[in-house]
Amino acid sequence: MTPFASMWRDLSGVGRHGETGGYRRYAWTAEDATLREWFAGEAAARGLDLVEDRVGNQWAWWGDPDAHVRETGEGGVVTGSHLDSVPDGGAFDGPLGVVSGFAALDALRAKGVRPTRPLAVANFVDEEGARFGVACAGSRVLTGAMTAERALALTDGDGVSMAEAFRSTGRDPGAYGADPEALRRVGAYVELHVEQGQALGDAERLARLRLDGSAREAPRGEDAWGGAVAVGTAIHPHGRWRIDLPGVANHAGTTALEDRSDAMLLAAEVTLAVREAARAHGCVATVGRVEVTPNGINAVPSHVRLWLDARGPEESEVRRTVAQVEGRVTDLGGTLAEQSWTGPTPLTDDLTARVHGALRSGAGGGSGTVPLLSTGAGHDAGVLATAGVPAAMLFVRNPTGVSHSPAEHAEEADCLTGVEALTAVLEDLVTKGKA
Ligand SMILES: [Zn+2]
Repeated sequence: MTPFASMWRDLSGVGRHGETGGYRRYAWTAEDATLREWFAGEAAARGLDLVEDRVGNQWAWWGDPDAHVRETGEGGVVTGSHLDSVPDGGAFDGPLGVVSGFAALDALRAKGVRPTRPLAVANFVDEEGARFGVACAGSRVLTGAMTAERALALTDGDGVSMAEAFRSTGRDPGAYGADPEALRRVGAYVELHVEQGQALGDAERLARLRLDGSAREAPRGEDAWGGAVAVGTAIHPHGRWRIDLPGVANHAGTTALEDRSDAMLLAAEVTLAVREAARAHGCVATVGRVEVTPNGINAVPSHVRLWLDARGPEESEVRRTVAQVEGRVTDLGGTLAEQSWTGPTPLTDDLTARVHGALRSGAGGGSGTVPLLSTGAGHDAGVLATAGVPAAMLFVRNPTGVSHSPAEHAEEADCLTGVEALTAVLEDLVTKGKA
């Protein structure tokens, strides 16, 4: 069994739901603790130094990043991703990057590579925001993009605050917050992630991508890495909004239809309006979470709370989509409030170009093409890039194109190709100096 396969097997049962087959791995829960222990075990087995920053992100260092910063003024190289999931998420979104990071580090050692820069594998906490509602909370607070006060006050569906959840794990919420020292150790971050669309698995879309890529670099010959790996270029702007819709609770049997003020009807109208607005502006928008009060089968809903997720390639169009939805919500007597917003995030150009070059030369002396892919999904790499930390991404082919679902998939052969590609990139970065 490859080291990749054995790590994958160790993780496969953690937080897996018996009925759906999907994963429920939320920040600061028992499942999260198991995943963090697994990460610490993998670090220890390799003799890496495990560091936890003030937010709870885990870093497993090979080499001393602080000494390197003192001597050179520059940080080390970091790869990794996250281990948490959305409700009933797939196995690959997040863990693929962490497991591939450890496997690539093993491969570098097996090749006898002697890094001139320290190298770490990272596990970012609370990337999906499934429990407290804000995605990439671990990297946002780390970089200061979100304040500790705001993060700690977020509550989950049971009314438990992030501060309480953090404390329940034996950590001190008073120490929680931005961590410039941890951030200084990161000279370059390369996140490998399962593709969350169907570009690499579809010959026609892949051909279009190669043409898009040619704007930056002319395609030469066949796809390197068998077309299983792409380099990320940018993360589309995206945000989350909370919508509150009013009604009046009443008896489902005795209240005549014309006497009702039913918040669920408003929710249905708003949900349709979301679809219409997204279509009109070339965006995607989703109502994926609903809270109904009082949530009784025989009670007319007195209040419905919806969460809107909207994204698109153009910031102005995402804003127009949300403004159109807000107009409808206001007409219906409801309110719409922004919970998070991330503008368009280009990944770091220099590092991306270098990663692209390393992948091309790593696969047959620069003869192959490596597709470039922009994405509608947010990532910690984007948060770091926005904070000025050089960050790049690799995507591994997902033949179903499905993500945030148990149907998310990547073939083992493609995963192993991803590890090889990541190894080539890391070897370049740790042996040839600053990106
Ligand atoms: Zn992810």
